[in-house]
Amino acid sequence: AFEAFADGNAKSKAIYDRATESLPGGNTRTVLFYEPFPISIASARGSKMTSVDGKEYVDFLGEYTAGLYGHSEPVILEAITQALSRGLSFGSHNADEAELAALVRERFPSIDLLRFTNSGTEANLMAIALAKIFTKKSKVLVFSGGYHGGVFLFKEGYSSPLNAPHEYLIAKYNDVESVEELVSKAENANDLAAIVVEPMIGSSGAIPGDHAFLAGLRQVASKHGAVLIFDEVMTSRLYRGRGVQGELPDEAQPDLTTLGKWIGGGMSFGCFGGKREIMELFDPRNPGALAHAGTFNNNVLTMAAGRAGLEKIFTPDRAGELHEKGEQLRKRLQAVSEGSLLKVTGCGSLMNLHFTTTPVDAIKRPQDVVGGNTMLGDLLHLFLLEKGYYVARRGFIALSLAISDQDIHGFVDAVKSFIHHHQSVVM
Ligand code: PMP
Repeated sequence: AFEAFADGNAKSKAIYDRATESLPGGNTRTVLFYEPFPISIASARGSKMTSVDGKEYVDFLGEYTAGLYGHSEPVILEAITQALSRGLSFGSHNADEAELAALVRERFPSIDLLRFTNSGTEANLMAIALAKIFTKKSKVLVFSGGYHGGVFLFKEGYSSPLNAPHEYLIAKYNDVESVEELVSKAENANDLAAIVVEPMIGSSGAIPGDHAFLAGLRQVASKHGAVLIFDEVMTSRLYRGRGVQGELPDEAQPDLTTLGKWIGGGMSFGCFGGKREIMELFDPRNPGALAHAGTFNNNVLTMAAGRAGLEKIFTPDRAGELHEKGEQLRKRLQAVSEGSLLKVTGCGSLMNLHFTTTPVDAIKRPQDVVGGNTMLGDLLHLFLLEKGYYVARRGFIALSLAISDQDIHGFVDAVKSFIHHHQSVVM
């Protein structure tokens, strides 16, 4: 199978070989690697991408959620082109920055004030540092399998030497008791600066957080004087485009929220914001204010693209429609994989395919799918590529607004045919 893949994608292979001369393993984003070598895309429009080898793929990955608008969306392209024509990098404030900030604040009522960054990773770095300074405490509670950027990666029995060196307490996702137990230990009870949580675990398998769990975290954080940080970098598009927090009652809202991905219109983007009393620490009019810099924080391309998207495209109604489309796709995938090892988790337009014996309703944390069959996952990934469907190697799917009903039918058929062809191993 690898040989046929190599023969059919010779130009991608040449690009990969060239890249290995300069980049470790030919790669500068670990998540994009797969055997025998990753395909290179040359161009894209709407829901379709064309590889350098001239093959067409329907894009079900949607740039890990940043590609919400679909490829070359005309309104976004126009905003970027207009901004480009006026010039780049002024080293000054600009009008789109103020407008994008207002649009974000309007969407997320828990955010009184906010700051832009260049990535979701940076947004989380800033939010956590801010929480420690604000509370004058030092411990940061996170969840096993949680992902908050390349410098935060938490798994049971594993901690990356590349992680930002905070004092972490690692709790179990969807388990408030595990949180209370950790926090109530004498050495932690008065030293908890922040709880950081993805309202749906994203990178580790699209596993939704129960709303009662999220509300429970709010109570623990308040009880111990800690800052509750929702990492909605991935989940901000869900429901009516107001994130998971948009579904939660007032008393369960976070103190700080981090955002990224699609909100920059597909350009490099990150954002953190929340309660006025916390964010005001950055107000440069005050003596002793915290400094937060970043050459490209307010770059005119991101500001213009992000503003156009929020203002003109991703209205709450469009968001609601996309959410429903995702719910329908997940149900159809579950129906065609009934009785097999293939399980589909997720929420709205974000989902993940898993090969595991755990029933889908019992998947509550990444550990519940660990030990699942990664070889079958790799096989499905290559099978879908050969059928012209682009998903993440780990089975992650993020629908864009450009995905059509026809794209969805084709994708469901492809998954069905995979199960049919591999019955002996997936049933
Ligand atoms: N938080 C979450 C929940 C994410 O999914 C990601 C990226 N996948 C990040 C943070 C980091 O964002 P970025 O890649 O823009 O640094």
